[in-house]
Amino acid sequence: MRKIDLKSFTFEEIKEFFISIGEKPFRGNQVFRWIHKNMVDDIEYITVISKGLRDKLKEKCYIDNIRILERFDSKIDDTKKYLFLLNDGNIIESVIMKYKHGISLCLSTQVGCKMGCKFCASTKDGLIRNLTSAQIVDQVYQIQKDLNINISNIVLMGSGEPLDNYQNVMKFLSIIHDEHGQNISYRNITLSTCGVVPRIYDLADENIPINLSVSLHTPFNEERKKIMPIAKKYSIKEIIKACRYYVSKTNRRITFEYTLIEGINDGYKDVIELADLLRGLICHVNLIPLNPIEEYIQKDSKAKSVKTFHKELEKKGINTTIRREMGRDINAACGQLRRNYIDKQ
Ligand code: SAH
Repeated sequence: MRKIDLKSFTFEEIKEFFISIGEKPFRGNQVFRWIHKNMVDDIEYITVISKGLRDKLKEKCYIDNIRILERFDSKIDDTKKYLFLLNDGNIIESVIMKYKHGISLCLSTQVGCKMGCKFCASTKDGLIRNLTSAQIVDQVYQIQKDLNINISNIVLMGSGEPLDNYQNVMKFLSIIHDEHGQNISYRNITLSTCGVVPRIYDLADENIPINLSVSLHTPFNEERKKIMPIAKKYSIKEIIKACRYYVSKTNRRITFEYTLIEGINDGYKDVIELADLLRGLICHVNLIPLNPIEEYIQKDSKAKSVKTFHKELEKKGINTTIRREMGRDINAACGQLRRNYIDKQ
């Protein structure tokens, strides 16, 4: 018999599960609290329930934990990067960054990724599998316990495409926001997508006010198809339409991620087209200097081009920031650390 993972249940689901095994639903509430608030990782330690019930649970269930394999501390800034080992031997990575306004955690949602963006290290071996909601929340718990801190901001911007693992990501959001657990505000959570249009509509209809970040990287469809295969499926026009819907439903401002690649998307024509495209939409552009990876020969934009791009976009009335580069000395680019680790083994 395959055992059931207690950590993957939402608050509602765990109550249902307890009813289904002939127990009182409030026992489920208690177990949820011990797993998600106290971050207990063994049924034996859930001492709020009787030994008898713990033994009964142990027969049918387990708590899925991920294990810290290695931690890398940046010497340049306060960025820390973790490699985690999953129970099936797979490896994922998470990054923790300290900003003036608090601590932000960047989580992975899949092992690998099938989206195939040319500049991204996470996708080079394709998708291996989806993470369960337990394996996404546990990145938060393991890091909180390791550093003895409370995390207030989460970005789903690590390896994987969160909208390609929709159900588990929705469960993760429910669990991490739950007042019986970590109670992290939806407004402090950002989901980043390469533009899986139908799922953007679904997300808008969930009625959860998380921030949506869309990896646009160029305002031109043909150029986008060259660097992001998903562009062959959904046009930029369709993405913008979905974003308008998202804003209308959630009242949240959209962020467009824009990785600057020398000679590819950092010219004046790109600024003009981008400003035209985004006019009238409640949004913000986040410029990211390309973090070079071995498999992609293009270079990051020159510092001067980044500055000019920023200035010109602002002049055209588009709210723009440049993402501070963090942890470059510890391979902080998406999926780079895991790849290097696996290659070395
Ligand atoms: N699949 C999601 C989330 C993961 S990637 C998405 O596409 O948004 C998180 C962000 O990092 C995306 O904007 C992605 O395009 C960007 N990114 C990936 N590799 C990068 C690199 N080498 N340099 C700069 N940005 C990169």
